[in-house]
Formats: sequence, structure tokens, C-alpha cells
Amino acid sequence: MAVSSADRLAGIVGVGERDTLMFPTALNLPAGHPLNVADIEPRSGIWHRGDPALQTAWLDCRMRSAVLSTDGFRRLVTDGWINPPANRARFTLIYTPGETPGYSAWWVGQQEAQPADLEVSGRPDLGWAQLEPGWPVNVLRAMRVAVIGVGSIGAAAAEVLAGYGIGTLALVDPDRLLSHNLIRHPLTARDLGRTKVAGLADHLRRTWPETAVEPLALDAVVDADRIRPMLKECALVVCAADGVTPRRVVSHLARHARIPAVLACVLEDGEIGEVLRLQPWPSRGCLTCQREHLAGSGGFDPEPALDAPYGLGSDDRPMTAVAGDLHLVGTLAAKSAVATLLERAGHHDQILPGDHLLLALRPRTDLPPPADLRRTGDQRWLQVGPPVPGCPTCDPDTGPR
Ligand SMILES: [Zn+2]
Repeated sequence: MAVSSADRLAGIVGVGERDTLMFPTALNLPAGHPLNVADIEPRSGIWHRGDPALQTAWLDCRMRSAVLSTDGFRRLVTDGWINPPANRARFTLIYTPGETPGYSAWWVGQQEAQPADLEVSGRPDLGWAQLEPGWPVNVLRAMRVAVIGVGSIGAAAAEVLAGYGIGTLALVDPDRLLSHNLIRHPLTARDLGRTKVAGLADHLRRTWPETAVEPLALDAVVDADRIRPMLKECALVVCAADGVTPRRVVSHLARHARIPAVLACVLEDGEIGEVLRLQPWPSRGCLTCQREHLAGSGGFDPEPALDAPYGLGSDDRPMTAVAGDLHLVGTLAAKSAVATLLERAGHHDQILPGDHLLLALRPRTDLPPPADLRRTGDQRWLQVGPPVPGCPTCDPDTGPR
């Protein structure tokens, strides 16, 4: 066993029978795990086959902080017994084929057998399968979702999408992770200087190994010709790109690809979070149309301020939104995206109250309706209006074909 005394932790790194060679076991621990650098103690334990009652006794003893007598323990061991040494308790693993649990771990001394906590690594029944049947794992595993813009909001959205069980994520962003990003971005200094998509892809592969991740260091505007065919392979696109132009381009490309788009941002210097879902339907307009409807009804038009919506951290554009608020908006965007996909797949418990969410993060000013939210946490759900006549994205004469 590899033994880390400081952590009171041991891992089985090799097994053998009697005096035969030791065969290594696969612990598959991540880099930096204490057991990777722990002391190796050869022949430090023993394993037996045991009666099913011994596995039940293990569960029972741990629950009640109880022990078994070594005599009682020995009677439930079904293969050859070797007395423990006189001067110390011996680590003993009990295996019972076909039982749940199939393994139990004990410290066995001359007088008593004390249960030890046990973790079996590499179990094939873990992962998304644990969420079945309560969560539609197989529906979401088949989905490919693009996330365009993986700054503080988009990276948080990507992480949550993977947690919901989206099978494939295409990450699109040309930017590199810089020191001033770290205060709000989910990535850490280990990825400084790398493209955000490369760092995030590695992070997601570590955290959510069942999600396939495709990092694409592309710009939504400059590389629109390469993003257009990619979106046709996606079920939905989440856009958290900064700035007016990339958001309009994604709105346009998604409608042409006939897939829903979920656009997430913060408005008015971080006062309000916005999650806007665009459906590629004749009855629903695009981003530009929705802004026109809002401007026409209440005068609320946040787009001009969107090119630096939550500050850049420079002297003239101080940061105006914090990580928690940005991650919250990213999480809501991911929830909106997954709800959209599941509603389309027939899960009627995932119907959203509307297409357009405004969420008060730090309401300080008197914005015109519908952005007149008074208390932090206030939410307003709006509907998306129809296409505006002549819109170059929505008009069937110039739009999708
Ligand atoms: Zn339009």
C-alpha cells in the first residue's frame, strides 16, 4: 500500500497471492494527489473472501461506531485465515463477489476488527449514469452545444452545461487568459497566457470527463464563415461574447442555422443581468428586432453601452461587475439553454416563463420599463416580439434560406 500518514490515507497500489509477484493496481489519481508521493509499504495488508454477512457487518459497524471480535470476524472469512501479528492491527480487505458492497476494509488485531472507510476507484457505475432515471441523461448526452465567448459569463455557462450532461461542447473565443481576468474568470493562474478555450477545455475534461470539448480559438465576427457551418451541427448556441457586433453576428448565424440562441450579458454597468433566448421561428424576431421592440415601447436600449458592459479594469473603465454576479448570469444562461433543449425533446416540466429574462444584480438607478427592477434578485420575464419588417436577419427575402 501507499501510505500517507499525514492524511490518514492509504491506497492499494499492488496485489499478489502469498509470495508471488505483486501486480500493480490502477489508482489513476490526479497529479499532486498525496498518494502519488506517499511511502510504499510492501505486504502491508491482506485480503480474504468473506461471507455476505461480513459486508453487512461492515456497514453496521461504521454506522454505530462499533467493532467485531476477531473471533467473530474470522468465522465469516471463507478462505484461509492467517492470524494478525501480535503487535499491530493488520489492514484487511474483504471481497464478496456479487454482493453490494462487494468490498469492505478493516483493521484486524488480536482482539477486535475495526471497520475502515473505503473508496473503490475506477467504478464503472459512476458518472452521469448516477443521475438516471431522474434526469434525461441520454437526451442531453446526444446534444452538441456551442458556447461563443468564454469570458467570465461564458466559461461559467460552459461548466454548468457540462454539469447538466451536454455531450459535446464547442468553445469559441480567440482571447488569451491574462492576469487581470483572474479576479472574475473560473480559470486560474495555471492557464495564464493560454487561449481561454484551451484552458477551459482542459478544465472541463478534468471536471466533467464525459463531455467532449472542442476548443476553437475563433472570432465570432472575423471567422463567421467558419462558425456558420459549425453551428449547423449544434442543437443550440450560447453567446456570452462581449460587444454589440459579435452578439448580432451570433443572432444572425443562429437564425440561419435554424437553431435557438441564448444570449447572456450584464447591462448598465453590472446592474442587470440579461438572458435572451432567440427561437428561429417566423413568429419570433432576432436580437435586433427585440431591441427595437423594447426601445419602441419603453426607451430601454442597453446596446450602446454593451461594448464594455462590465468594465475592463482600466483606469477609465473600472470593473463594475463581480465574479459571482457574472457566474450567476452564466448559470442562468445554461439553465435556459438546457430547458430549451429539453422542452423541444418533450419535457414539459422545462418550459420557461418567457424568452427574455432581466435579473436585478445591483439595481441603483431608475431605468425605464421593463428594466425598472427595484430589489436585488428581482426577475422579469418578457416575451420576444415578432420580426420587424425589413429586418435583414429575419426577413424571409433576405434572411434564412
Ligand atoms: Zn430581426
